[in-house]
Amino acid sequence: MSDQEQTDQIRELIVIGSGPAGYTAAVYAARANLSPLVFEGSVTAGGALMNTTEVENFPGFRDGIMGPALMDEMRAQAERFGAELVPDDVVEVDLTGDVKTVRTATGTHRAKSVVLATGSAYKKLGLPQEDEFSGRGVSWCATCDGFFFRDQEIAVVGGGDSAIEEATFLTRFAKKVYLLHRRDELRASKIMQERAFADPKLEVVWDTEVAAINGSDRLEGLTLRDTRSGETRELAVTGLFIAIGHDPRSELLTGQIDLDDEGYVLVDRESTATNQPGVFASGDLVDHRYRQAITAAGTGCAAALDAEKYLADHA
Ligand code: FAD
Repeated sequence: MSDQEQTDQIRELIVIGSGPAGYTAAVYAARANLSPLVFEGSVTAGGALMNTTEVENFPGFRDGIMGPALMDEMRAQAERFGAELVPDDVVEVDLTGDVKTVRTATGTHRAKSVVLATGSAYKKLGLPQEDEFSGRGVSWCATCDGFFFRDQEIAVVGGGDSAIEEATFLTRFAKKVYLLHRRDELRASKIMQERAFADPKLEVVWDTEVAAINGSDRLEGLTLRDTRSGETRELAVTGLFIAIGHDPRSELLTGQIDLDDEGYVLVDRESTATNQPGVFASGDLVDHRYRQAITAAGTGCAAALDAEKYLADHA
């Protein structure tokens, strides 16, 4: 089908994103005969779990499953029911009006409803070995990976509420948790700080940043730099949790739908409805709090069901 023909067609539903939220929305929408067109993204089709190794907390896999294998299953399941999957980036959207327009580098597509599922990016430290050691000692998710670090010495980088929350949670498993912070005071709320200071397994290391991530196959240690003197030293740890924030991938949506101060899409909390009729949002693009594959899949399902109802009501 040529781009021009695609432009003339008005679809029932377009899904933007291919993580657990996008593929789950696609499975539900395809099984409801909505023939969804799914834009998966050109670089990271499959979403955040493509960058990890073992996923042990997605229900249904008693022995765990590798992240890319899980996403491959979700993708195949969506395809089996007739979702049309396209590995392209959406570069522009017009979500106003009854017919929405979605543009990629190669064509323009129209639909009566849209599910947004573009996820959020974990902020990185910008160090050379960060990606290489992802899933091999470096993590962005204590809930996901804390269990792998039982009785080990690990570090958490950050100074806000979520860094303290991650560090405190990790003391359940680890023998010792170093909380590395660039300044001499934390941004976190007072109550969170008090909890951290009272925890015997947690040590706050002030005025310190990570200068290098070291190891051969897995993380074996960090080179730390004193932010005042510039002096460096080594710290032997087997885990590094990076908790310096997230960037929801909502650049496309600015000026189109309501976002909160941090750029997350605002939805009517009873559902996945955005302030634009016919546009629904799901997964980490919306979620400040849980950021799990299963919760993303759950809201992806809800978004497809909400779109289905919207289309039935506006037929
Ligand atoms: P994502 O998975 O981020 O997917 C978003 C998708 O949207 C991407 O495929 C991207 O290509 C696409 N996209 C973005 N912009 C565009 C665009 N303009 N056009 C087209 N497509 C676009 N959770 C767990 O439950 N268990 C774990 O063990 C676990 N481990 C993790 C390990 C790592 C290293 C990371 C980073 C995360 C981990 N998580 C884990 C969290 C989990 O991966 C996320 O919560 C989940 O993937 C969020 O799903 P999502 O569908 O909202 O977004």
